[in-house]
Amino acid sequence: MGQLTLTHIFHNQNLAYTSISLNIFNLEFQELDVYEIYIKAGKIASKVREYARIQDHTGKTLSEICNDIEQEIFKNGAEPAFPVNVSLNDIAAHYTAEPNDPITVKNTDVLKIDVGVHVDGYIADTAVTVSYDSKYQNLVDTAERALDEAINMARSNTRASDIGRIIEKTITKYGCKPIQNLSGHSLERYTIHAGKSIPNIWTIGHSFNLSVNNVYAIEPFVTTKDGQGVVYEGKVKNIFGIASRKRIKDQKADDFLEYLWNKFKTLPFALRWIVNEYEEKEAVSLIGLLIRKKNLHAYPILVEGANRIVAQAEHTIIPQESDTITITK
Ligand code: MN
Ligand code: MN
Repeated sequence: MGQLTLTHIFHNQNLAYTSISLNIFNLEFQELDVYEIYIKAGKIASKVREYARIQDHTGKTLSEICNDIEQEIFKNGAEPAFPVNVSLNDIAAHYTAEPNDPITVKNTDVLKIDVGVHVDGYIADTAVTVSYDSKYQNLVDTAERALDEAINMARSNTRASDIGRIIEKTITKYGCKPIQNLSGHSLERYTIHAGKSIPNIWTIGHSFNLSVNNVYAIEPFVTTKDGQGVVYEGKVKNIFGIASRKRIKDQKADDFLEYLWNKFKTLPFALRWIVNEYEEKEAVSLIGLLIRKKNLHAYPILVEGANRIVAQAEHTIIPQESDTITITK
């Protein structure tokens, strides 16, 4: 929404050279500033992810887990960039707890915990898969291996399709299957999916090269060989985002939309995050209305096509010419 992003700052560099030197200095200070903020967001995201990884989540409800992890983000001086995703088993992504969600983690479950942290709109996106059953260890490890291989080759000017190729190659080498219609993505200020996709498979045709100092999330999703390797939208939708601020001339709904905008801007949110200020029933009905009016967008859960187990690993990177900065390492 008219905010300065890292991409814009760097693309505007040419402008600076035609300008007076003082402007160049200002610009460089700004670049450094943004970079430092990304490093800070990344460190917090990494710390919170590792906190989530080492917990024994068995017997806990999904709302306890989400609230706990989000509290950790706040305690570290940042804010969640989206509701913590706690996607179980064949749900690959986009499940977050409902208020008082009663679903309990079992010791046979595979739980993907996807954490987004933002500092002043600059986002770090990272995920870990936890499982307590050794039969899924290869799946979990393979997602991590594919991510490592991808990061090892990612530089400015690396082709996104080559990253997809190494991810797919690594996953099949370990006897698993990539989810072909889930991908990594570019990030910009207050924007999680900023338009560019980093595929998890080898694709023919149009691709692009990573750009120096742009920000990307790489996130392989892995299922078993007998999976379909494709996700479909499920019925459950518990993550929302503002799509339009156009008023609908319903005072309550317009006030609610304004409240959401002030609180979340373009970032996704969950019902859990608004029930302190709005009664749950009322919030649900206002959300429903605003979805019908296309002011809000709802993100459905994404489910593996053959209902096979899915594992995920994710880091946020800033490619350089000769290496890559993994801000969520
Ligand atoms: Mn993520
Ligand atoms: Mn992501």
